[in-house]
Amino acid sequence: MWYLLVLIILTIFLYSWFMKTLNKRFSDKNKIYEKIKNEYDSLLSENARLKTDTINLHDNLEQTIALYDITKQICRALDADRVFSYFCEEMGKHIELTDCKFIRNEADLSAYNDYTILPLEIDKNSIGYLVVRGIKERDKDRFYILAQQFVLGIKRAILYQRVQELAITDSLTQISSRRYYLERLNEEIERSKKFHYHFSCLMIDIDHFKSYNDRYGHLVGDAILKEVAKLIKENIRQIDLFGRYGGEEFSIVLTETDKGQTQLVAERIRQAIEDRYVRAYDEELRVTVSIGISFFPENGKDIDVLIDKADLALYQAKQEGRNRVCIFQSKA
Ligand code: GH3
Ligand code: MG
Ligand code: MG
Repeated sequence: MWYLLVLIILTIFLYSWFMKTLNKRFSDKNKIYEKIKNEYDSLLSENARLKTDTINLHDNLEQTIALYDITKQICRALDADRVFSYFCEEMGKHIELTDCKFIRNEADLSAYNDYTILPLEIDKNSIGYLVVRGIKERDKDRFYILAQQFVLGIKRAILYQRVQELAITDSLTQISSRRYYLERLNEEIERSKKFHYHFSCLMIDIDHFKSYNDRYGHLVGDAILKEVAKLIKENIRQIDLFGRYGGEEFSIVLTETDKGQTQLVAERIRQAIEDRYVRAYDEELRVTVSIGISFFPENGKDIDVLIDKADLALYQAKQEGRNRVCIFQSKA
């Protein structure tokens, strides 16, 4: 009987040992499975994150390229009005709105009460306002980005204009620089050849200018140059060409003007300068000029010959005592 009991106990013991071992193995496998599953899940989410990143990156790249293209389109103009018209073209492609205007003066804004107004600045200086109507809320961010490209375009146009002005204007006298004057003179020669016009070329040089510099200093000398340029300008027409040819030398082209009229104008300029007291700092001075004249086409048909001959006449005026007008005379 007790054999049977021992057998049952043994069987129970063996069964429980077997189950325990089995359970342990099963739970180990379960743990491994859990671990692998967790890793797989984290890989899946990492993959999804990478996918979103790639899409975002792609979108950003597309936007940057699009923005670059828009900037390129807007900035292809070199004056503010055309920059604005290109900007409007781009706005039309990318944003829905009913009206857009570029207003330069704050005073004019009162007419645009029902518009969205965006002030524009370059280096903290106002350059005007963009006023838009009918813009959707969802488009506003894109509009602000485009407006920044517009500001860039305007900035470029302003810089270009400044460089142009510097290249064509003499900074002291504010008349044409030598280079620009000669370019215009060339154009005038071509135009006069084509339409058989006459014109005269005047070289004007201040008499004894060096002595004013030596006696009163360069600042007074500069003031004299400015005053003489102003006086000459007052005595010619707007259509005439006028430039600072060298230090104290000026040159004029009197367009479509014959000999008689030229002589009158040259004498008027000479007299006006002689009569005027030039006020420079504490000094009140009088200066005179000598003038040499050549004529197109009589004395030459190209720029160098015409200037050379006017220069020879100017030299003659100096030789004859200064403060006078001389016309080029051929020796023959
Ligand atoms: P002339 O009657 O024979 O023309 O005598 P001049 O003294 O006027 O002629 P010269 O060519 O000897 O002197 C020209 C002077 O002009 C010399 C130069 O220092 C001066 N000058 C040239 N450019 C400027 C300038 O921008 N400002 C000033 N203040 N002086 C200048
Ligand atoms: Mg000189
Ligand atoms: Mg001189």
